[in-house]
Amino acid sequence: MCGVFGVYNNKSAAELTFLGLHALQHRGQESAGIAVSDGYDINLKLGQGIVTSVVKENDLRDLRGNISIGHVRYSTAGGSNPKNIQPFFAHFYGGSFAIAHNGNLVNADRLRRELEEDGAIFRSTSDTEVFVHLIARSRQPAPPHINLHKNDEDFLPHVFEVMKRVKGAYSLVILREKQLIAVRDPYGFRPLVLGKNRTGSYFVASETCALDIIDAEYLRDINPGEVLVIDDAGIRSYYPFEFPEEPKKCIFEFVYFARPDSKIFKEWVYQIRKEFGRRLAKEYPIEADCVIPVLDSGLLAAMGYSEVSGIPFEIGLIRNHYVGRSFIQPAQEIRDLSVRLKLNPVRQVIEGKRVIVVDDSLVRGTTSKKIVSMLRRAGAKEIHMLISSPPVISPCFYGIDTPTREELLAANLSVEEIRKFIGADSLNYLSLEGMLEAADSSKGFCTACFTHNYPVLDELFSVQGV
Ligand code: AMP
Repeated sequence: MCGVFGVYNNKSAAELTFLGLHALQHRGQESAGIAVSDGYDINLKLGQGIVTSVVKENDLRDLRGNISIGHVRYSTAGGSNPKNIQPFFAHFYGGSFAIAHNGNLVNADRLRRELEEDGAIFRSTSDTEVFVHLIARSRQPAPPHINLHKNDEDFLPHVFEVMKRVKGAYSLVILREKQLIAVRDPYGFRPLVLGKNRTGSYFVASETCALDIIDAEYLRDINPGEVLVIDDAGIRSYYPFEFPEEPKKCIFEFVYFARPDSKIFKEWVYQIRKEFGRRLAKEYPIEADCVIPVLDSGLLAAMGYSEVSGIPFEIGLIRNHYVGRSFIQPAQEIRDLSVRLKLNPVRQVIEGKRVIVVDDSLVRGTTSKKIVSMLRRAGAKEIHMLISSPPVISPCFYGIDTPTREELLAANLSVEEIRKFIGADSLNYLSLEGMLEAADSSKGFCTACFTHNYPVLDELFSVQGV
């Protein structure tokens, strides 16, 4: 997962990008970067860590220009190597550009091998760099149904061709000397929204919470398969694919990833996440003394459960906010440790009680197992674990960091075996139907992590038997 942000037409473009990225920080904390154009040159500031530790006041002073893009990263493809920090910058015969990507390509390895065999030299291990090379090498004209504005003749045919060669998930922001471009893959796996402020600046962001922080208004989503260009001639859209795909928006964004104050895929995350909890209450009525969330991810579902069941909502686990998300660090030992660093039970709430614990998802089971044992030590009489999404049985190839099938508990164990593993008195998951109804399934979702139905795969994956 990653977050992307873009600004067009603002003399504080870098500062606004900094703020936008700060609001998107939950989408990735491994590295951050900002690229700014002053109309002639593109300058960058990149570094490892969260945006406030990467970009300092003097950097913002140096990053002058009216157009900017930014990226916060957490590695799904290519590892957390500093070489993979985005935006990527490149210069080719068509000019300079910088690019930032949220998502994952499923055919990146194959494309990369082909490019390398043809002499390309890669400087990173990230799938995003494939875009850079393909853009530079593209020679195809724009598809015949496209009527190009004269400002777009030199660069956009490259983007269109690349969109037809890559497969998978990509929400992109591209910075050129005088243009901001936003691109969303034809399935619309990852969110991407467009906004505007009172002074006429435009913004592109992964989530609307990044528009709120800079006081910009949400205009609309960038559509699946759309290429949106903003420059001094205005704002215009192209759809290089003549026949639209059925949308496959990532349902896990609603389950876990997006911020609850955001509107993505044209829906409020808050509303849907709470509805997951209401559905859980209908599917699993349990006799208990209190409902407690695993903060922050289980908060809204626990509220929804309490609302429908009438069982009092309590904060039975306190979260220490000075620790990052438990899952975000790639190494298992650190993950093990950080669950305890992060959560501590409130003995007064827990002792002698029958407790319903609500979390958004159970992946490796590390979090739930530790929570159950913490609550037992705090004197809970019964512990009923409820998960506001179905069992995660398959890895994501579209930009969510899920482990391999071997490490996914639900891919290998039955619900009863998982219950035993985590040590709870009962364990239940929201049904797939319940989740899809809450999110309005008519909108078209990717549910691959819960169903193993992958909308796009590369031939190589089927060979590997994934
Ligand atoms: P686990 O301990 O492996 O079962 O992880 C489950 C916990 O991690 C839940 O509390 C989720 O909120 C969180 N989580 C689930 N998926 C992810 C992800 N892809 N990245 C970061 N955190 C996640």
